[in-house]
Amino acid sequence: MSTPFDLDAFTKTMTEMGIEVITDTQQIGKLSQDYHTFSPILTAKLAGKIADVVVRPANLQQVLNLAKICVAYRIPVTVRGAGTGNYGQCVPLHGGVVIDMTKMQDVCWVKPGIARAQAGIRLAALDKITRETSWELRMVPSTYRTATLGGFIAGGSGGIGSVQYGLLRDRGNLLGLQVVTLEDEPRVIELRGDDVQKVNHAWGINGIITEVEIPLAPAYPWAEVIITFADFLSALRFGQKLAQADGMVKKEIGVFAAPIPNYFTALRPYIGDGQHVVLSIIAESSLDFVTGLVQQYQGEITYQKPALASGRGINLGEYTWNHTTLHARSSDNSITYLQSIFPSDNFQTIEHMHNHFGDEVMMHLEFIRVEGNIANPGLQLVRYTSEDRLNEIIRYHEQHGVFIANPHSYLIEEGWKRSIDPEHIEFKRTVDPYNLMNPGKTIFGF
Ligand SMILES: Cc1cc2nc3c(=O)[nH]c(=O)nc-3n(C[C@H](O)[C@H](O)[C@H](O)COP(=O)(O)OP(=O)(O)OC[C@H]3O[C@@H](n4cnc5c(N)ncnc54)[C@H](O)[C@@H]3O)c2cc1C
Repeated sequence: MSTPFDLDAFTKTMTEMGIEVITDTQQIGKLSQDYHTFSPILTAKLAGKIADVVVRPANLQQVLNLAKICVAYRIPVTVRGAGTGNYGQCVPLHGGVVIDMTKMQDVCWVKPGIARAQAGIRLAALDKITRETSWELRMVPSTYRTATLGGFIAGGSGGIGSVQYGLLRDRGNLLGLQVVTLEDEPRVIELRGDDVQKVNHAWGINGIITEVEIPLAPAYPWAEVIITFADFLSALRFGQKLAQADGMVKKEIGVFAAPIPNYFTALRPYIGDGQHVVLSIIAESSLDFVTGLVQQYQGEITYQKPALASGRGINLGEYTWNHTTLHARSSDNSITYLQSIFPSDNFQTIEHMHNHFGDEVMMHLEFIRVEGNIANPGLQLVRYTSEDRLNEIIRYHEQHGVFIANPHSYLIEEGWKRSIDPEHIEFKRTVDPYNLMNPGKTIFGF
């Protein structure tokens, strides 16, 4: 259901303000979508949810101007980066205006170890610029080529780099945010230090992020390696040992149980049938130490791409995180996924689930750093048959102490944290007093 408002008058006002407006229904349809289609449940629930109009502001003043109009006419607002989110995060639940931020892609500045840029810049573009100064983004989602900086902060959690630097939510991984409010007189607010958490991962309902300041990491020459194993637990133990090796610099360690590697078409020449695989991105200076570790766990290095070839040919990062699901779905679009936190019981629960479900729930784990320790969240692939069976699978995991951050819901309270952050609620009351920012994303009453 769309909130009625005078679309012609709105379009005219936007045009007078010099703001690009999209009224073509097909384009609006596309820009009202994200990758919630990975979930058959969300696909059904979000069918037909579409904005009335899309706008593309090019600068801060235009964001302020359009925010004022949306507030004056109480028009629902959904902010959009590249639309790669997985939970329908930027699907407008009640129509209104989609604000596409991709025109705002200026880099404000880059200093040693810090960068500031507009929210609509693509992560890969920002990374390319910072790398010219020998610094790079600490972590990126596997969608780094398309995803925007603002979308990653508002909707993402971590990714390639998280094995070294933890998640976005970890103190120090986000330095500053510039946010435009949806008050009667929209304001520009600068959040710094711990205050950034008021907007970090708020799914776009706590103000329009216009600029982001992030810490950078030294840009190492990165090599990419495929290691195969005959035995799944050996692959897992190898991954853990590599993640724990504090002297070795790494960016990515993903573990994939057979038959997942069958879906990695371009990697097939390097992976035998029935083999389990570790995909890793490692600083070239640490490569020599991988060989010994691989032997210890009876693995085999079957592919190595030197840093010199970085950016060319196969990019292993684009097989990890939710790209694994993307590759599997391109062969079989009935496949969906789970997001799981396993108990730290030395892999007993993981092994149990691996054996219990067999091919129905295929193990994909990523190593990350969490509060000084190494953890291995799962992004298992599920052969979907019905909603009841999916819920049964989720329940079985929960009964065995596995936390499921349900990717089959568009509600904040059912996702990663299972609740809405009290800090987010308090801040929302200030910056979005009329609850215009994609209302319906939270069951909390405002
Ligand atoms: C194949 C695949 C792989 C993925 N891998 C990862 C991964 O490795 N790690 C990870 O964390 N995520 C991953 N994701 C999810 C998604 O890619 C990330 O969350 C990504 O960072 C989103 O960026 P985006 O620009 O596409 O944001 P969008 O999808 O456009 O938006 C995401 C959320 O942020 C809000 N938002 C966007 N811009 C702004 C802004 N300027 N101000 C306020 N709110 C805003 C939107 O309203 C929405 O709620 C993956 C998704 C896919 C489909």
